[in-house]
Formats: sequence, structure tokens, C-alpha cells
Amino acid sequence: MVVVKRRELTFWERIYLPEIFRGLAITFKKMFEPRVTRQYPEEALPTTEVTRGQPRLVVKDDGNIACVSCGLCEAACPAYAITIDGQETERFIEREPERFEIDMLRCILCGFCEEACPKEAIFMSDELELADTTRQGLVYDMKQLERPASTLKPRIDYVRGINDRW
Ligand code: SF4
Ligand code: SF4
Repeated sequence: MVVVKRRELTFWERIYLPEIFRGLAITFKKMFEPRVTRQYPEEALPTTEVTRGQPRLVVKDDGNIACVSCGLCEAACPAYAITIDGQETERFIEREPERFEIDMLRCILCGFCEEACPKEAIFMSDELELADTTRQGLVYDMKQLERPASTLKPRIDYVRGINDRW
């Protein structure tokens, strides 16, 4: 049989008071340090062009959607979140999406669609908030995804800057 010899506790260790006072001292000190807790949702989260929020489709200055329905983003999406049906158009680009949906419940905000797109037609926005009462409500259609190019400009410039390095 193995006998474990326990160390005798000192008087102060037995009454435990010094530990309590040390804990109180730390609490008191922390009360005067700057707060690091974010008061979300009362205070919005800070965003920059680096923020990888929900993907959005670019609407060009002439009012047309930039997407040519090539399907590369759909193929690149690891979460199978994108569904595109293309159609012919009279415009010079020849094709455009008839249906473009992103299931935001599947989307993992990876940005692969943004990287795959050859037409600068889809970018990660700074929109982070996502809530609804039904699953179907979070399958966004074209109208919900479209944003003017000017809204996405900081992100577009940022991505162009990255691409220019190669
Ligand atoms: S961000 Fe990623 S997961 Fe979301 S739609 Fe784009 S490729 Fe799919
Ligand atoms: S990769 Fe770009 S152009 Fe092609 S379908 Fe996706 S958003 Fe449209």
C-alpha cells in the first residue's frame, strides 16, 4: 500500500483569508482598467475593408449586374451554398443569372466565391448580421444579394490590391 504524505498546511493557508484578499485585490484593480467587452448588439462591431462578411453581388454603375453566370463561384463554394441558373441576354456579355441564390445558413464566409470570380461580380461585404425566423428566409435571392459597386468599393479596392501583388 502506498501512503501519500500530505504537507501540513500553515495557519494562513488553513484560514484561507490571504487568498480571499488577493482575489479581491485583483477584482478591484481590474475595475479601473479599460473595458474590452464589446457591447454587442447595442454597439455595432467595427468593420474595415478586410472584414469578410456575407457575400454580395455587384451591380455596376450602368445598373446591370456584373455576374455573367459562369458558375465558377458555385463550383468553388465548399459549402454548396450557391445556386445559379443562367440565361441568355441581349447585352454584350451574352449571359446573366436568371436565378442566383446563396443559402446563408450554409455559407461559411470563406471568400472562395470572391476569389473564383473572373468578373469582379461577387465580393465579401461588411454585412455581418444574420437573423430570421425561418430557414427559407435565409436563402437570399438576387434582389437580396445585389449591392451597388460603390457600396462595395473599399473591399473591391482591397482585393485588387492583393491581386496586384501577383
Ligand atoms: S463565402 Fe464561401 S461558403 Fe460562402 S458562398 Fe462564398 S464560397 Fe460559399
Ligand atoms: S464566378 Fe462571378 S461571374 Fe461567375 S457566376 Fe459567380 S459571381 Fe457570376
